[in-house]
Amino acid sequence: MLLEVLQRYWGYDGFRPLQEEAMRSVLDGRDSVVVLPTGGGKSLCYQAPAMCREGLAVVVSPLISLMKDQVDALVSNGIPAAFSNSTQTGAQRARVDSEVLSGRIKLLYVSPERLVQDWMIEFLKKANVSTFAIDEAHCVSEWGHDFRPEYRQLNLLRENFPTLGLHAYTATATERVREDIVRSLGLRQPDILVGSFDRPNLIYKVERRKSGLGQVREILDRHKGESGIIYCTTRADVDTLSLELTGQGFQTRPYHAGMSDDDRHRNQDAFIQERCDIIVATVAFGMGIDKSNVRFVIHYGMPKALENYQQESGRSGRDGLEAECCLLYSGREMIRWRNMIGESPPGPAREAAFHSFEAMTRFATGVTCRHKSLVNYFGQDLPTEQAESCGACDVCLGQLDLVDDAQVVGQKILSSVFRQKERFASNHTALVLKGSKEQRVLQFGHDQLSTYGILADVPQQTIRDWIEQLVGQDFLKKEGEYQDLKITPQGWELLHGKVTPKLLKPAAPTKEKRKAAVIADSWDSVDRGLFDSLRELRRAKAGALGVPAYIVFGDTALRDMARRRPTTIAGFHSVKGVGDKKLADFGQEFIACITNYCEQHGAATDTL
Ligand code: ADP
Ligand code: ZN
Repeated sequence: MLLEVLQRYWGYDGFRPLQEEAMRSVLDGRDSVVVLPTGGGKSLCYQAPAMCREGLAVVVSPLISLMKDQVDALVSNGIPAAFSNSTQTGAQRARVDSEVLSGRIKLLYVSPERLVQDWMIEFLKKANVSTFAIDEAHCVSEWGHDFRPEYRQLNLLRENFPTLGLHAYTATATERVREDIVRSLGLRQPDILVGSFDRPNLIYKVERRKSGLGQVREILDRHKGESGIIYCTTRADVDTLSLELTGQGFQTRPYHAGMSDDDRHRNQDAFIQERCDIIVATVAFGMGIDKSNVRFVIHYGMPKALENYQQESGRSGRDGLEAECCLLYSGREMIRWRNMIGESPPGPAREAAFHSFEAMTRFATGVTCRHKSLVNYFGQDLPTEQAESCGACDVCLGQLDLVDDAQVVGQKILSSVFRQKERFASNHTALVLKGSKEQRVLQFGHDQLSTYGILADVPQQTIRDWIEQLVGQDFLKKEGEYQDLKITPQGWELLHGKVTPKLLKPAAPTKEKRKAAVIADSWDSVDRGLFDSLRELRRAKAGALGVPAYIVFGDTALRDMARRRPTTIAGFHSVKGVGDKKLADFGQEFIACITNYCEQHGAATDTL
């Protein structure tokens, strides 16, 4: 039954991990907390069951813009869905209300502030509600990164609908947030389903920001004609970078909170409807969008917490196809974040902010597998087959250039820390090793140390990077208000020559880079030319219908079309992501496009 619904409405032929269990929980009327990463397929967990049973599923969703997109996507698949929020006119609302009461609507999206109103609760008591799905459920928790007070009042649901199942969905994994969700919503022995936080289709790369623009261009050149987001930490960076890239012939649009609502909406729509490829934005962008085929996310600056990085980079590749996440960080930015956090009032919130910031710094400057660092931070391990090499990060792909005599270099740095009596921070230590004549070095007589200038031929910045890498690998630690460097027990092992750290050479980019395996697979047998033609058609359709491009078809569907090249209705129906409604709405035109293209280019048709 579930599989049949999945096939008929969505054109999918199987479940993603934990989806089936989550759907069973809904159908059986239990409570549940479902924790899956972005792109894990949480929405389907409540949408598919709603189509298998009597009654109305009410979905609590915090973002009005996302609500509309979700409803549009459902309707485009032939599913009767609607939303109720403050953007509607009285007449629109009255129509939705009557459709809900008549039982036609299967899924109703409601904002939390509206749901907790007495009149709404009374209205829902008259409707035949079967379940409540609470999306972005971490918003109930003050420990989450996105606390919303109105979520706290959702405990009303349990009181008013004691017999119905309540289901909470989130991508935030921490134990504490999960407990908060269970307690605040009054869940009863919920099924707790926690998926793997790894996103194997994302390829992570980290570089120190040097030329900035040049580095961004190099990445963009790998993604011609694809959709991507460039995150900047300041509005000024957004404006400058967007302008520079436009000047160099890239189609970009800026987005930040300093722009007018109109401008922002216009640029967001252009991106979603694929009239422009690239959006250059502050973190103000992204919360309300759900574009499945973002092929790359570039961070032009480092976020202040690893949670943020995971969430922002996670907006790429939601369709499960490969996507690239590049982080460009700078030391200056790290200092700025540290100072900013330091200025906030002391207390647990500040401690938590420091904790997340340090994790972010370790991720950026570290030399351990990026997939591993991320999932470890969220308390998980990588599946064993990926533990040796994830095959999808700069570390595992061997794209990092490591220093050959890292043991000796590490010893030099640690000796200097020791001779400075472990009372100085990284910056000072780097100056000593470099052999700087700055006043503060001379003032402490550090030009007399045997380690003075022993790394004179290495750029100052590289020495600082190495120190960070030694901290990241637990050879050194930073302590106290001034972040003085101290040698750890592991550090002593290094000084005794028993262990060797990994240290990065400032990489001179090698031409022959290994390609991530995920890329090769997902393009297997896909005719790129046909894919581009289909994309053009999708763009035109989306424009004509005024909907986001991915609502017409996702990238997965387009690639599958360009792989199978179906010229018959039956063939088209077996394409991934083509359900009954999409077949009826778009089948003819896309088949015509395929037939034309294959004729013109002498490409084989109906190949699978
Ligand atoms: P989340 O809300 O967890 O971030 P979504 O529900 O938006 O994720 O799903 C991400 C993408 O994966 C969507 O494009 C969705 O249609 C697709 N998807 C979900 N479940 C499946 C499945 N079983 N098979 C194929 N694609 C799926
Ligand atoms: Zn890796």
